[in-house]
Amino acid sequence: MSTAPAAEKKAQANEFNPFESMAQLFDTAADHLGLDRGLREVLRLPDREMTVAIPCVMDDGRIEVFIGYRVQHNFSRGPCKGGIRYAPDVNLDEVRALAAWMTWKCAVVDVPFGGGKGGVICDPRQLSKNELERITRRYTAAILDILGPDRDVPAPDMNTNEQTMAWLMDTYSMHVRKTTTAVVTGKPIALGGSRGRTEATGRGVLFTTREACKKLGIRPQDARVVVQGSGNVGGIGAMLLHREGYRIISMSDQYGAIRNDKGLDVPAVLQHLKATGKLQGFAGADAIPGGKSQLEIPCDVLVPAATENQITSENAPRIQTKLIVEGANGPCTATASRMLDERGIMVVPDILANAGGVTVSYFEWVQDRMGYFWTEERVNSSLEQIMVKSFEDVSSVSVKYKVSMRIAAYILAIDRVATVYRMRGLFA
Ligand code: GLU
Repeated sequence: MSTAPAAEKKAQANEFNPFESMAQLFDTAADHLGLDRGLREVLRLPDREMTVAIPCVMDDGRIEVFIGYRVQHNFSRGPCKGGIRYAPDVNLDEVRALAAWMTWKCAVVDVPFGGGKGGVICDPRQLSKNELERITRRYTAAILDILGPDRDVPAPDMNTNEQTMAWLMDTYSMHVRKTTTAVVTGKPIALGGSRGRTEATGRGVLFTTREACKKLGIRPQDARVVVQGSGNVGGIGAMLLHREGYRIISMSDQYGAIRNDKGLDVPAVLQHLKATGKLQGFAGADAIPGGKSQLEIPCDVLVPAATENQITSENAPRIQTKLIVEGANGPCTATASRMLDERGIMVVPDILANAGGVTVSYFEWVQDRMGYFWTEERVNSSLEQIMVKSFEDVSSVSVKYKVSMRIAAYILAIDRVATVYRMRGLFA
């Protein structure tokens, strides 16, 4: 990995740089563990980064070149694992942070993976299905050397889905000349996907919300929940919470938000969203501005399930909730995180709260390698066991070290990865 020039380093040192946020939280946890300087450097920096040019013939015959990344943060505990996102503002520091969060997330739930993440700078809303397929296949071919069921196993993330994973699996398989389902997770069930994978992140959000509410003495029927987002994590999370009796009073999408303090009929909201492509216009709620202002609605549980940097030092003082469950990766900056701790707001951190997705990805990888597929009941109950145990593990560390759930999750994860390094030793 190249060392960043001084100017770049300076620019990185700001609240909104997710890698900087990750590194600050990492350092706080490493201090608690008394981790020595050398091991700190090894664990903080990504093991490998790849930047690739993706030339694509567009539907109108023009050639455009897209930029893609795959960052492998750490593979000491097993193959790298983590999603691929498509977005216009993807950048290397974001992908680095997301890859590191995957390392810590996999360690928190104790699945035998390291962390990786990929991204392609593009605007999927402006691309046809054929263009998306060509970009996905060329991106896969470009990073193929570092992929594989024992090397690095991608999955969906923002703006990618099971179709993207099917193209990736096919491209990899055609190159290695055999169908290799375990190279990617989040595939369609007919191609070796796991039952329950689509809902897994939302279901993990449900389990961790339930455990945290028990701790805080909040009964589901008394809980007013605000969900930022309505996609795979926010939408499904809201639906499952609604089914368990929580009152979802607001949801949002990229265009705006809706609110009904009596509680939204979430299945009807999602049906409306599917039919019209927008939450706006849903008859059973008021349309309100989306974005960060939605997060200030008074509630008992706030579930930011959209993207990074939503709760910052600017709006953290105005958040009015008892509990935050981070469905997204990095929705609170490190500075905001400290402010929320000082205000006594409990936060179930991303690397625990949204780990349901990668946990069922692990089940999918296991099933593909066995060639034997589980029932949805088995997937869901195994997921529940892991999420509840991980919540308890993080809670115990938080009591032992007298730290927040976030710092506790980092301590648990870093300790698990550091233990592996001590046992393996450094290859020289
Ligand atoms: N993209 C998801 C995450 O951020 C899932 C990763 C995976 O299943 O590998 O956790």
